Amino acid sequence: MKYLFGPVPSRRLGISLGVDLVPHKVCSLNCIYCEVGRTTNLTIERKEYIPVNEVIDELKDYLDQKPELDFVTFSGQGEPTLNSGLGRVINFIKDNYSEYKVAVITNGTLFWDDKVRLEVARADVLLPSLDAVSRDSFLKINRPNKNLNNDKIVEGLIKLGKEFKGKIYLEIFFVPNLNNTKEELTLLKEIATKIQPDLIQLNTLDRPGTEDFVKAVTKEELKKIKEFFEPLPIEIIAKAETRKQIQSFNKNIEEQILETIKRRPCTDIDLTEILDIHLNELNKYLSELIDSKKIESEHLDRGLFFKIKKKKL
Ligand code: SF4
Repeated sequence: MKYLFGPVPSRRLGISLGVDLVPHKVCSLNCIYCEVGRTTNLTIERKEYIPVNEVIDELKDYLDQKPELDFVTFSGQGEPTLNSGLGRVINFIKDNYSEYKVAVITNGTLFWDDKVRLEVARADVLLPSLDAVSRDSFLKINRPNKNLNNDKIVEGLIKLGKEFKGKIYLEIFFVPNLNNTKEELTLLKEIATKIQPDLIQLNTLDRPGTEDFVKAVTKEELKKIKEFFEPLPIEIIAKAETRKQIQSFNKNIEEQILETIKRRPCTDIDLTEILDIHLNELNKYLSELIDSKKIESEHLDRGLFFKIKKKKL
């Protein structure tokens, strides 16, 4: 499969078949915490980056076998709403395989465009992000395409909240000293109240990201932020260890990763090539292995390398 991956053990969506609608790495943002690397095509141009007919053919072959899935999820190595054929693919699933739920994981930057809101209208769950409301924090955390305006993004999300019939889970990713200040939290709460998502999900760094200097906020801090947002519906996204309890968690993949990096440290891209596994799927396993202290990472010239964690003597 070229454009489908998994099913992956997803913390938020259970057994989830991933659909990748843009190549690595087409995105409207270049977030400092991104787990799939720096954006090489920073754009807001919508077009068929990946031929939608081919995606539909793959989906047909796969879904005809009636796999056990909780969701078909548009995510991948960039921003799925940038593919102008997104609506066609969602409609294809809904028209032919209505037993499957559809989710779209998106950075939420394009919902000011009426067409994008219309294209996602038949999805069951949308998971947009909003990390900052103030221009300053937005520029620092999300490093957007120069034509993106944060007021317009917020306006689009509020419109989405009013129109969308399915569920909206709004994700906020926290980076210490950038968007956990009192001022930014107050703005975020104000806007979240207007968007009225079914759930707000608080997240922070799970494994080392694009930039070395980005750290996670502490669990205690996340708990305080959660209290600040209450009574809005809110949760802290569960930690990686819960993935092991998800049915599609594949022990073999975990072992293959450990075997490979035992021989020599590898970057995530090395591992995707050696193990023939999608980057997003790999990331789920890397997070779990880091969390269980079996592996660690190190920034070197060629990027972030993963290696077996040395035991303390
Ligand atoms: S929006 Fe997502 S894919 Fe794009 S840079 Fe940010 S984290 Fe990475």
